[in-house]
Amino acid sequence: MRRPLIAGNWKMYKTVPEGVALAQDIRAGLALPLKDRDVLVAPPFTALAAVAEALRGSDVLLGAQNMHWEREGAFTGEISPAMLKQVGCSHVILGHSERRHIFGESDDMVARKTRAAVDNGLTPILCVGETLPERESSLTLEVVERQLERALRALTPDEASRAVVAYEPVWAIGTGRTATPAQAQEVHAFIRKRLSATHGEPVAAALRILYGGSVKPDNVDGLMAEPDVDGALVGGACLKAESFLRIVHYQRV
Ligand code: PEP
Repeated sequence: MRRPLIAGNWKMYKTVPEGVALAQDIRAGLALPLKDRDVLVAPPFTALAAVAEALRGSDVLLGAQNMHWEREGAFTGEISPAMLKQVGCSHVILGHSERRHIFGESDDMVARKTRAAVDNGLTPILCVGETLPERESSLTLEVVERQLERALRALTPDEASRAVVAYEPVWAIGTGRTATPAQAQEVHAFIRKRLSATHGEPVAAALRILYGGSVKPDNVDGLMAEPDVDGALVGGACLKAESFLRIVHYQRV
């Protein structure tokens, strides 16, 4: 059985005091103990240390939104895997569509980051997903397959089974336009099938695949009802404790 994961990507929102307040509200509002699901928040770099402190002793996991692949060096403006580990992160979001499309991250860069995350004991949350023109040209599966295989091919089966993949159709991110449960399920099942081919059936069966793209309190239950949807990567709706907690406390319908 795959343990569902609900992850909140705070993007470039929340100063340190705002982030601490949100983390405290999430912590206070969780139906504890979290027996059957994992919860993670990914604040901006500046708030990681303070949010780690606010979450200390709770079940809420800490992730970062990006990192560089090198351990250290002359890389102005970058953050290393070791820095994230030291501050208390267990996970890191990699290849988010905003990184790929606004900041020009290539499949090769995402692959190096994925390898570096695993080498440093961080769980990568690898984002894949097609743009609207790609979907309209029936290229969805081709794009997802390329992004997936380039990032995961350097991982052993054991390493891949502990990674997390997030299917995030670009046209659904921040647009209020969610993929239907059936659209999400189709791509998630495809990802699992491809993983089975590249890394073996046990890896495909173990790996968690999250859906991301305008997940809200009113659509999470339907998405989570799909057999290959193992959780959600939430953007806009994770910035308020009330809506994030409702998503965390989803019920499979
Ligand atoms: C995201 O940032 O990963 C995301 C899915 O954003 P939103 O929920 O706002 O679409």
